[in-house]
Amino acid sequence: MKNAATVRRRGANRGRRAQDRASRGGRPVLVQKETELKIISSPTEMQAFAEAARCRGERIALIPTMGYLHEGHLSLMREGRRLGTMVIASIFVNPTQFGANEDFSRYPRDMERDCSLMRTVPVDVLFAPQSTDMYLADSQTWVDVTKVTQGLCGPLRPGHFRGVATVVTKLFNIVKPHVALFGEKDFQQLRTIQRMVQDLNMDLEIIPMPTVREADGIAMSSRNVYLSPSERETALCISRALSAARNALATGTNTAAGVAGVATAVLAREPGVTIEYVEAVDAENLEPVGVVKRPIVVAIAARVGKVRLIDNAVMAPALSA
Ligand code: AMP
Repeated sequence: MKNAATVRRRGANRGRRAQDRASRGGRPVLVQKETELKIISSPTEMQAFAEAARCRGERIALIPTMGYLHEGHLSLMREGRRLGTMVIASIFVNPTQFGANEDFSRYPRDMERDCSLMRTVPVDVLFAPQSTDMYLADSQTWVDVTKVTQGLCGPLRPGHFRGVATVVTKLFNIVKPHVALFGEKDFQQLRTIQRMVQDLNMDLEIIPMPTVREADGIAMSSRNVYLSPSERETALCISRALSAARNALATGTNTAAGVAGVATAVLAREPGVTIEYVEAVDAENLEPVGVVKRPIVVAIAARVGKVRLIDNAVMAPALSA
């Protein structure tokens, strides 16, 4: 269904393309689409806007982010563009999901660049609230997904998934999306949100999206900017470890411990890498696995220098196993 906003945008782009041709002596040139991006910072204004959009029959696709956008985020937004008639991205560095000694205050931020990137998708609305507007000083309600958050990053980042589940619930209530897109890069976060939506009868569809990687295999992450050139080189061992694990499962290693051991060995060879965990668990419920009979996710958290990186790969046993 074409809505008025889409039609206006397409019309504006046609005009701009013609102008660009004219300004370069009639030669067509490739220009980046510049489209309107509405920015809303007030949660109540966002809620009213979303309600009106729903009443007009718009299908709202939400992409929650913490900003400092890269191709991974943009892939979610482009898919949101395909699935919805109204694409809303949020940028909110959520204080409740950071531990006391984590990087909340120095998390990378560049709102202007982010807005330019969102216009290329194009995203219709950016919701960028202040944390004082998101959290009342006397707020006392949390969303806690208990089991799926117990392993992997759970014990290492106490309170993290509670912060994530709470803020995502708030974003769903404010933006009222029909679909919301999340990356498999943060696999435990994805499973936490899927569980929460199911358990609490939230009326929307969660769309999981594959991890976008650089050409050399490293998973894109806003935190990669913290890596020095040599640390970045070292960090490649994480995706190499996942490939080795995949290879081991395909060639006869049939236990989760065996597969995880292969990945651990790759990381352990690398000076400058501190392993937090390497685990192979059930890809659906993240529970421990013995002999691999169903798809597993091999998940890694490791520090390269001071930078904490996570990555994962889902893999299935060979059919004959
Ligand atoms: P963040 O801004 O890191 O909170 O991420 C916002 C969303 O983008 C989450 O759903 C992430 O899983 C997703 N995301 C982050 N990095 C990637 C990536 N490399 N590929 C795909 N999705 C990603």
